[in-house]
Amino acid sequence: MIEAAGLSHSYKMGERPLQVLHGLSFKIGAGEMVAIQGPSGSGKSTLMYLLGCLQKVQEGKLRVNGTDVSALDDAQLARFRNHSLGFVFQQFHLLARGTVLENILLPSFYPVESAAPGKAEKSRAVALATQLGLGDRLDHLPNQLSGGQQQRVAIARALINDPPLILADEPTGNLDSQSSAQILDLLRSLQREGRTILIITHDPEVAARCDRVLHVRDGKLTDAPSGPEAISPHSKKEERKMPGARRPLPLIAWLRLMLRQMPLAWDSLNRNRARSALTMLGITIGIAAVLSMVTLGQFTKRKILESYADLGINNLTFEGYPNWRLKATDAVTVPFRFFSWEKDVVPLPRIFPQIKAISPALHSWGLKLTFAGKTMDKDNMMAMGVNENVLPTFNRTLEVGRSFSSYHIANASPVCLVGRDIATELLANTIPLGQILKVEMNNKTLACRVIGVLKHAGSKSEWFKPDLQVLMPYTYFRSYVDNYWSSEIHNVNIQLQPGSDVEKVGSGIRAFFERKYGKAGHFSVNTDSVLVSQMKKFLSLFSLLLTVIALVSLGVGGMGITNMMLVSVSERLREIGLRKALGASPASIRTLFLTEAILICSLGGGIGILLGFGTYHLAIYGATKLVPKLEFAWTMDWSALGLSVASIALVGVLSGLFPALKAEKLEVIEAIRSE
Ligand code: ADP
Ligand code: MG
Repeated sequence: MIEAAGLSHSYKMGERPLQVLHGLSFKIGAGEMVAIQGPSGSGKSTLMYLLGCLQKVQEGKLRVNGTDVSALDDAQLARFRNHSLGFVFQQFHLLARGTVLENILLPSFYPVESAAPGKAEKSRAVALATQLGLGDRLDHLPNQLSGGQQQRVAIARALINDPPLILADEPTGNLDSQSSAQILDLLRSLQREGRTILIITHDPEVAARCDRVLHVRDGKLTDAPSGPEAISPHSKKEERKMPGARRPLPLIAWLRLMLRQMPLAWDSLNRNRARSALTMLGITIGIAAVLSMVTLGQFTKRKILESYADLGINNLTFEGYPNWRLKATDAVTVPFRFFSWEKDVVPLPRIFPQIKAISPALHSWGLKLTFAGKTMDKDNMMAMGVNENVLPTFNRTLEVGRSFSSYHIANASPVCLVGRDIATELLANTIPLGQILKVEMNNKTLACRVIGVLKHAGSKSEWFKPDLQVLMPYTYFRSYVDNYWSSEIHNVNIQLQPGSDVEKVGSGIRAFFERKYGKAGHFSVNTDSVLVSQMKKFLSLFSLLLTVIALVSLGVGGMGITNMMLVSVSERLREIGLRKALGASPASIRTLFLTEAILICSLGGGIGILLGFGTYHLAIYGATKLVPKLEFAWTMDWSALGLSVASIALVGVLSGLFPALKAEKLEVIEAIRSE
């Protein structure tokens, strides 16, 4: 059952290691009941921790139940302890908050990766408890039991997985003589059932009741044959394959681990309700802040940009002229002089689906208007040739009358729309619609009938005065100008779909023509959207700032979780140590604490989402009371919700990670012996 060869062990004590065991070699056969006896401080417990795989073998060979345990890693050792070893400690080491039944069942909970304890395990636990005289104490807590009863619970726990080897460290040390005798009888009966029993004791009377005694003094065996001849260095026995050699944990298995330990996590949060609630509050506030700040940031940005839409932020003008600096050496495949309506402009909406409407913009300065003997020729007056899309593409609206129809364009009808100032100055005392104006430009004279008056429009420019313009169908306009500059299309006005990226489309169109004509033409884009795009940048920055502040408050909440979990780890050192001793793998300890962190974060976060939802609706409602134009609407910003949910997961994992790793790394012995 046990073969030890040259076992040594030393504890790190500052600079110098303290050697406690000095090359022990011995064998214990299957089915023996052996005592290891020695005075206090001789190294008995240390030896038992080695034999019980609770401590790594530092030096020497150790084979337990046919397995070379010095070659196993932590996870494999945990499994090995779980199914091959049963422990009985001097201090009983029961879970203080678990009932007798739960304590007995504890080892069958592990490894968590396999099935949870079912009916079979439960009835076996009840049977064991009854056999040990605890049948009517199943629902009691350890502090409601006598020492002898507690130790019997510990023995039942050691037997639940039916291990071949029972290790008992001073099992009677804390008991009166009557209970001691009972416990020893119990261990003897277990040996008769075929188990190997190893009892560690300083008490010669206890030792006398065993089949054989190994005496330890100052870390050496005093009686047993020692030295390498005691054991063949290599056992002839087949090396037993360890079940469940460690595989990397895939996500699914990891989730299953967490799910299995959810009740445990819930229990421990429930145990400290006030503490858990306060920690949760931090996350609730953080998540509520993230959800409402991000949503409000986006909402404000959208509303402000919408209010800019009437300023023509969706319009752009585009112009193209021949390239005057063309060199003789520049290769030109297609010459460019002006845009062809059919070949250049009409295909654009198919290439740029954001385009909603296009109008040519031919123009001629030096205009003179005559009506009813009165003449008007101001400096900045201008005639323009446009099409039926003039109003949206020039971002203009009518005061009276109607705009051009496609019939006017196709037939070069002699009609016009006039600017606000022309209507007041020239047509002052008449109804303007239907009046015929005499138009002189480029030394030619034509007539047009007024069909509409344009509303006032401002301009930042010194010379471009929208209120001093006369607009005509471009087909009519061009037939009265003979110079190529004014009669061909060099400028087009474009209106885009609402919400389009004006600058992007503009540079796209420019690139399109530059590819088409190469060096032959010179193309440029103008938009009024510079101001708006700056505003957009500012608003984005503003909502980013809000988001960052919210995330910082969430981070503080996350630190609250880390803090609570760290306290929880140090409060539960003994529990962690015990769980590890009974077979909890490092991964399951890590996920236990991660689960706790994620659970508390999800609960807090869930409430936070509801709170945030309420908060920003309240804020929007408040804003509608202050800004009359604003109307209340139920809003759900999916990106904000997504960010909140992602933050919950991230904060849960991050805040739990450090405590979880700390718990995982705990040495079993240190943890179990801590106060
Ligand atoms: P026993 O169980 O026979 O009383 P132990 O195995 O508990 O003896 O301890 C043997 C020696 O090792 C003692 O001198 C003790 O002080 C020392 N020792 C035990 N545990 C540690 C430890 N974690 N760090 C340092 N020294 C230790
Ligand atoms: Mg001891």
